[in-house]
Amino acid sequence: METSQLKWIDTHCHLYVNEFDADRDDMIERAKSAGISKMMLPNIDESSVPDMWKLVHQYPSQCFPMMGLHPCSVKGDYKDILDRMEADLSIHHYIGVGETGIDLYWDKTFEREQVIAFERQISWAKHLNLPVIIHSRESLDLTIDIITRHQDGGLRGIFHCFSGSKEKVHKIEKLGFKVGIGGVVTYKKAGLAELLPEIPLSMMVLETDSPYLAPVPHRGKRNEPLYILEVANKIAEVLHLDLSELAEITTTNATEVYGKKD
Ligand SMILES: [Zn+2]
Ligand SMILES: [Zn+2]
Repeated sequence: METSQLKWIDTHCHLYVNEFDADRDDMIERAKSAGISKMMLPNIDESSVPDMWKLVHQYPSQCFPMMGLHPCSVKGDYKDILDRMEADLSIHHYIGVGETGIDLYWDKTFEREQVIAFERQISWAKHLNLPVIIHSRESLDLTIDIITRHQDGGLRGIFHCFSGSKEKVHKIEKLGFKVGIGGVVTYKKAGLAELLPEIPLSMMVLETDSPYLAPVPHRGKRNEPLYILEVANKIAEVLHLDLSELAEITTTNATEVYGKKD
C-alpha cells in the first residue's frame, strides 16, 4: 500500500506560529496530500488564539482548535487569563483543553501557580467532557499524581511528547490516558524507541509538536505535520508493524480521545 493512501492524525501541532508565515498553505497541502487528514492545534497563551482561529476558519476540515494556557506561559497574571479563557470556552467550540500541565525544566518560579492552573484546566475538561492535553517536563510524577487525584472516570486525555519509564506507562494506562509519540522516538539517545514495546498500542497516538522537535533526518530544523511519517516509520520498524496497521490504530485512538468522528 502506498503511504499516501493511509490516513494519519497529527494530534499535536502549533501550525499558527510565525515559523509558518512564509509557507503555511504549502505546508498544509503537503500534509494533506501525504494523508495527514487532521491536525489538532493546542493553544499556547492568549496571543496565539486569534492566529489559531484564523487557521481553523481557513481549514475547517483539517485544523481543530484547543483552548488552554501552556505551563511555560503561567506567570503572575495567570488567573485573569484563565478567567478569559474559561469565558471563551463557554462560547466557542474547542476539541480539547490544552496544552496545560507542568514544566519545571525552564523555570520553577511559578511551580505552585502551574499546579493551580493545571487543576483549573482539568476541571474545564471534566465539565465540558473534553480531553486534557498534558505537557509534562521534569514533572511526570507530579502530573501523574494530579491526574490520579482528579480521575473519577470522567477524565480523558493525552500525555503529549511522552518519554518515561515502563512503570509510568502502566500508571498512565490505568488512568485511561493516551501517550503522544513524536520526533523524540527517532533520537538515538532518548531511549524512547526501546520503550515502545512496553506501550500498549491502544494507548498510542502520533504527534509532531510542529514547529518543534523535528524527527531525524530533519532534527534541529523546523518540524511540520508531513514529518509524522518519519515518526510512523520508526515506530512501525521497531514494533514490526505494517504502516497501514499503525495508521489505522493510531487514527482510531486519536479519534477516540478527541471524540471527532468522520
Ligand atoms: Zn508541550
Ligand atoms: Zn506543544
